[in-house]
Amino acid sequence: MKRTTSALAATGALVAIVAASLVGAAAAPASASANGNDGRNDGRVKNVIYLVGDGMGRTHVSAGRERYYGADGRLNMETMPSHGYVSTYAVQKGSAQPGEDGFEPNYVTDSASAATAWSSGVKTYNAALGVDAKGTLVPTAMELAKKAGYRTGNVSTAEITDATPAGQMSHVLARGCQGPVYSAKSCQDAEVTGAELPTDDLRVTPVAKQIARNGTADVILGGGLSRFDAADEKALRAQGYTVLGSPASQTVATGADLAGAKGDKVFGLFNQGNLTIEKAKRENPQSIQAKEPNLAAMTTKAISLLEGKGKKGKGFYLQVEGALIDKRSHANDAAQTLEEIKAFDDAVKAALDFAKKDGHTLVIVTADHECAGFNIIEKGSFTNAEAANPPVNVDGGNTANNSTPSRAGGNTKDASRSTGIVNGAGSNDPHNFAPATFRTADDPKDVKDGSPEASLWLTYLSGNHTGADVPIYSYGAGSDKMQGSIDNTDLFDIVTGALRVR
Ligand SMILES: [Zn+2]
Repeated sequence: MKRTTSALAATGALVAIVAASLVGAAAAPASASANGNDGRNDGRVKNVIYLVGDGMGRTHVSAGRERYYGADGRLNMETMPSHGYVSTYAVQKGSAQPGEDGFEPNYVTDSASAATAWSSGVKTYNAALGVDAKGTLVPTAMELAKKAGYRTGNVSTAEITDATPAGQMSHVLARGCQGPVYSAKSCQDAEVTGAELPTDDLRVTPVAKQIARNGTADVILGGGLSRFDAADEKALRAQGYTVLGSPASQTVATGADLAGAKGDKVFGLFNQGNLTIEKAKRENPQSIQAKEPNLAAMTTKAISLLEGKGKKGKGFYLQVEGALIDKRSHANDAAQTLEEIKAFDDAVKAALDFAKKDGHTLVIVTADHECAGFNIIEKGSFTNAEAANPPVNVDGGNTANNSTPSRAGGNTKDASRSTGIVNGAGSNDPHNFAPATFRTADDPKDVKDGSPEASLWLTYLSGNHTGADVPIYSYGAGSDKMQGSIDNTDLFDIVTGALRVR
């Protein structure tokens, strides 16, 4: 599927949208049962729940499955009836849109460009949020849904001002412009706009300031309390938000606060920065961090706060991000990458359980990009990075494999660069290229993580994002549009089309 038009609007004008058309979206229609309708969904989508595993590539899903459910098992997301792949590339600053003159792709995206792609239907440069590659403001699906009377929610384990959640409810030239205060260094980008913008321009207004004042999301749950200040709290309360904890006093909200929360609009941030990894909470049960809700609890509560309260019978649009998959992949921390995949998949289950009961909910599970070239290698083997020399061609008998120059004399392990199998903290050693090993649901009970006997051997290629396509799973009416290969900008058309808001 290729887009031929882009959704663009002049600065400040969220209403004038050139409708983005999805050309060639005629994938084979799936049967009702293949869509997960169970005969109860008449094809009308009332609610959309959009779940993003940040940095979650295809191998992250496979490794999570093997770790927790075994080779023959399935993560909850994998039980969803419609599967496909999403291309994620970004563009250079100043680039035109795909298919136009002056189109300059950048094959590896960041979370900001990717979030803008599905939130607003345009390709943009890395670091841009809610603006296209020329710096022009573009409306977001969540803004359009809100305007049409839908209830809206935005949930993340990152700071709520971080790229993925911010992409739906702010417009800035640079993702670093999070707040609480404006700075030219973090907010301006004269390379895009030609000259510095006046400081009252929305596109250089800190994300936290925008979120606290624009009312784009009715329910806001996540981290990043330190991005907000007393004036933001005042602005939130003036709009009728129930504020859990307090930005003014920098008091974090707790899971107990969330459980008791009521009201049409709820704002709750549970950490001054990103939320805490599951392992740290488990190992420090008396800490303040252990009081943070997990992603599944935030998802369940957000659904209950949003459900059945839309104007004129309208439903809701909820975005949920499992952010720490990406953050632990950047750190090459396989143990916590796996645990965060499980926590994200538990949130997927919460969304699916609701959708199956409701019958009018489209659930989409995907990622913004792959992170760190995560790989499952053969048990007992080692990577090129650990080798004294690159591997020798071990299949030289096949003429198709006889390349020139040949890679002779390799396939030996370099002891100085291989300290053995590691998990977690060992990945901090720059000399340590060794794979991390994990027991799986298939291993005998006495097999331990980090042992040579554990059957899941994991490595990383780098500490950065890669350009690999990411998987997409969906359930409910309209899922057939997400079978096969699509682009991340197509997701704007699919969601706004399902909600009938474009
Ligand atoms: Zn990342």
